[in-house]
Amino acid sequence: MHYFTYKGNELYAEDVPLEALAREYGTPLYVYSKNTVLRHIKAYKKAFCDPGGILCFALKANSNGAILKLLAEEGAGADIVSGGELFRALRAGISPARIVYAGVGKTAEEIAYALKKKILMFNVESGEELEMINRVAGGLGMKAPVALRVNPDVDPRTHPYISTGMKKYKFGVPVEDALEFYRRAAGMEHILVRGIHQHIGSQLTEVAPFRDSLEKVLNLIGQLRAAGIDLTHLDLGGGLGIRYSKEETPPVPGELASGLLPLLKKVSGLTVIVEPGRSIIGNAGVLLTKCLYRKKTGEKNFVIVDAGMNDLLRPSLYGAFHEILPARKERRGSQVADVVGPICESGDFLARDRRLPIVKEGEILCVMGAGAYGYSMSSNYNSRPRAAEVMVDGDSHHPVRKRETYKDLIKGEL
Ligand SMILES: *Cc1c(COP(=O)(O)O)cnc(C)c1O
Repeated sequence: MHYFTYKGNELYAEDVPLEALAREYGTPLYVYSKNTVLRHIKAYKKAFCDPGGILCFALKANSNGAILKLLAEEGAGADIVSGGELFRALRAGISPARIVYAGVGKTAEEIAYALKKKILMFNVESGEELEMINRVAGGLGMKAPVALRVNPDVDPRTHPYISTGMKKYKFGVPVEDALEFYRRAAGMEHILVRGIHQHIGSQLTEVAPFRDSLEKVLNLIGQLRAAGIDLTHLDLGGGLGIRYSKEETPPVPGELASGLLPLLKKVSGLTVIVEPGRSIIGNAGVLLTKCLYRKKTGEKNFVIVDAGMNDLLRPSLYGAFHEILPARKERRGSQVADVVGPICESGDFLARDRRLPIVKEGEILCVMGAGAYGYSMSSNYNSRPRAAEVMVDGDSHHPVRKRETYKDLIKGEL
């Protein structure tokens, strides 16, 4: 559910017409709906936190400080994958006691930074990383709280680039090796074994892969208990999908929780952690773009817009589908067209062979579901200043990031 809807012929973010925002802030422009974000946070809190769990927002989906501040105010924690994300999370007021740190390539400097800030735990992805954490913690005279990221080898049935929990991918440690890993960890002087972690992929649209994975993890927890290794935290990861197209009907957080509850009941005394990114912010954000030109070549129609793959990479990177709606509905014919950006790459498109109303020059289009992995994946490719971002709350709105300038492009160049 989100609050981007037509009222009459005009598409609104909550109570603000999107066309007015495009006029005021220019395009390309990311627009977020505060009350949609809040709604999603509350759904997760009800499903997982009320029963005692911890919500850790995956910063890589969207790390704008205004969004992080909302999450901090709601008591959410963070799932981070770099020192930079730790910096952002702390700056927004997120408690380090609710920060978990994943990623296969944590550097010694990043590990030291996170130790000094006293995060909840490192989700460790390899034996060598564990050794490094032990060494760095030793150097600081500390004990590092860790969880092992287990690779349960289940197929999340999503795009291969956002699938992580299968053996052929770089993430985690195979279940078979986990017991040995925990034995080693438990014997290390500067390691405190705290939990277990799984994250099997992103944009999952069914509960079944979560359940399959959790079964393997619970089985492992049983073996660990038998071996005298007691954990306090069970991190289920993120990955719940959102509805990009009408064919997708992903479960809501409450459905995920009730689907997993029978399994979770089998283990007691574990604090459950969830790490959603996309399902919190994905459909709470849209990208507004202006049609610059239209063009027809042979068989194909192109709608050339002012947002490109540098602003929203998902279609180019994953062939991802984003619905595109006109900011102003009117009676007109339709045509099949590619919606493409100004970048000098044939892979620069927002939609391919899409049936759309016949778009007019200068018209504002709204790319739906662009809140997650949108701005956070954007770049300056083709020396394009990055877009502005604005937050809507009811009938008010305020900028949460300025549009970059040409000067920003050369900042730091020597
Ligand atoms: C990316 C990521 C998430 C969030 O995934 P979503 O699909 O956005 O919910 C959670 N945990 C880890 C470890 C991740 O890498």
